[in-house]
Amino acid sequence: MHKFTIRRWIQLLLVGGLCLGTLATSGAVSQEEPASPPETGLSLSQEVKTGAAAPEPAAGPSVEEPAAQTPEQALQAAKEAESRRRRASGLLARYGLTREQRETLSARMGADAALFQKLEGGELSRAELAWLGLPNARPDRLDRYDAWMEAHPEDSRENAVLQVNIDQDQPFYSLIWETADPDSLSVLVNKHYTLPAGYVPELEALGKGYGSGSLRPEAAQAFRAMADAAKKDGIALRSVSAYRSYKTQNSTYNRYLKQYRQATVDTFSARPGHSEHQTGLALDINVASTRAHFERTPAFAWLKEHCAEYGFILRYDQGKETLTGYRFEPWHYRYVGEEAAQAIMDQGITFEEYLALRPALGG
Ligand SMILES: [Zn+2]
Repeated sequence: MHKFTIRRWIQLLLVGGLCLGTLATSGAVSQEEPASPPETGLSLSQEVKTGAAAPEPAAGPSVEEPAAQTPEQALQAAKEAESRRRRASGLLARYGLTREQRETLSARMGADAALFQKLEGGELSRAELAWLGLPNARPDRLDRYDAWMEAHPEDSRENAVLQVNIDQDQPFYSLIWETADPDSLSVLVNKHYTLPAGYVPELEALGKGYGSGSLRPEAAQAFRAMADAAKKDGIALRSVSAYRSYKTQNSTYNRYLKQYRQATVDTFSARPGHSEHQTGLALDINVASTRAHFERTPAFAWLKEHCAEYGFILRYDQGKETLTGYRFEPWHYRYVGEEAAQAIMDQGITFEEYLALRPALGG
């Protein structure tokens, strides 16, 4: 109660390049946090979940990177995967699934020996297989998909998977996972995922003429290129806040708590460990205040049109508050790399949705 968060610490074991989500410890109070915020007198109503579904491997590219293999081992692994895929295809025929479901499932069983073993052992029900027949369904969330459908019987199954993957079935800050791969460019940090308190990325100063602060080198370089291009169009882009440490976020958040109710503070300030600024991939451009109405400036219009070309996304868009957990922040941009940025900005989706729609791997 006096501690800031009751947290479920997650460790992911990397086994042979496949990420198996493994719950390492119970929902214990973290002892590693450098500083506990002062008493606020506010009830944080943190919910400790025990025995709930194990967390999925967080959405980092580590999931997709195969282990280093000799060419012979790689060939052998490919043969085994193909053999599993074929055998799975045969086993799946008796479950009365659609062709599309069977194809997704056999591909999945090919890539995932553990899941295949479950199928072979008759451990997977038809209902479970039907969920896993959707490419982005995560094996450790099947119960939550069922619960979502029970609560929203009119919903499509595709949407149930999407919503649960975004953790829309959990109140913000209620079930908190430590992100598996803080160095990934697609690291997700929000009100469900936290960075390790001690995490400090490699940083590079943005440099003279680009405003204040530092970012990870790839993001700093991309920001400078973007600001240079904007300048040619007569638009000035400057950073007003880039990387922020856990400690800084901790004092900022707690300063706000003295002025506002926590529910209000949570709509505009991240709790320590939950700020994208700690990744070294996010920055505030030109202003950081709703009163400034940055969304009405030519700089905002320019950014909306061009940011993806430089690998940045508008992270907290208007009308997406329930997904991102934040009110519209026209000044806050996040570096995710060009490919992801183009996909996200073209489709007008949030980063949360983008990650939740990606095919799930591993079991
Ligand atoms: Zn920001």
